[in-house]
Amino acid sequence: MIRYGFHLSIAGKKGVAGAVEEALSLELSAFQIFAKSPRSWRTRPLSPREVEEFRALRENAGGLPGVVHASYLVNLGAAGELWEKSVMSLADDLEKAQILGLEYVVVHPGSGPLERVKEGALKAFRLAGVRKKPRLLLENTAGGGEKVGSRLEELAFLLEDTPFGACFDTCHAFSAGYPLHHDPKGVIGELDRVVGLERVPVIHLNDSVGGFGSHIDHHAHLLQGQMGEALKAVVRDARLQGKVFILETPRGPEEDARNLQILKAWLEAS
Ligand SMILES: [Zn+2]
Ligand SMILES: [Zn+2]
Repeated sequence: MIRYGFHLSIAGKKGVAGAVEEALSLELSAFQIFAKSPRSWRTRPLSPREVEEFRALRENAGGLPGVVHASYLVNLGAAGELWEKSVMSLADDLEKAQILGLEYVVVHPGSGPLERVKEGALKAFRLAGVRKKPRLLLENTAGGGEKVGSRLEELAFLLEDTPFGACFDTCHAFSAGYPLHHDPKGVIGELDRVVGLERVPVIHLNDSVGGFGSHIDHHAHLLQGQMGEALKAVVRDARLQGKVFILETPRGPEEDARNLQILKAWLEAS
């Protein structure tokens, strides 16, 4: 069985604890959050009360696996001040995830030399003083421009000799030119050969608005993008059982109900 959930908002009064409440009310078995605004460098400390409430709710829910998505401003391949700010921002997310007891932090590698990206990720990890959790996951990207991480070989390089793992986004992979629409099993096989599925605990389950190989990073709801039914083979792939699947499409009561209905039907079909 896979575990699945949405990317949830922490904007409400209860902050991060509100996200767990929402996960429970939607009967999700996993969730993802931003630990701060993803489009601003500003951060705020988590209040002790918020942390306590979050941890208690999550414990009651049997430990519900949770992912923190790092800020979109982070560019670990940048030079100078932007690199420093990126490292600090990622370290802040790793610290917050550690305080909250969450399993994973996902970050996009950014643009620039791969060695620099790797150095930045390692520095953030050291600065955060991560002990057992969270595990830092580098996400594959749609590529285009100077962006790195659209090829699985690049992720493999970033992971080599580190404690890091990878997060595999189906929309990004498809728009980077991995044929999930024709050969989902083959693409998962390639992910296993190049990165190793034991290093990929989180899958971002998004369909794609942009075409195959378009390098367009625009997520579509299940069955509303270019891959359609082909994604069913991904959630049902025996090699991905036990993984955490996160849907990252715009939320709304109708959208949520529809996405959950499709996902459940896919999982139940024989
Ligand atoms: Zn992402
Ligand atoms: Zn993603």
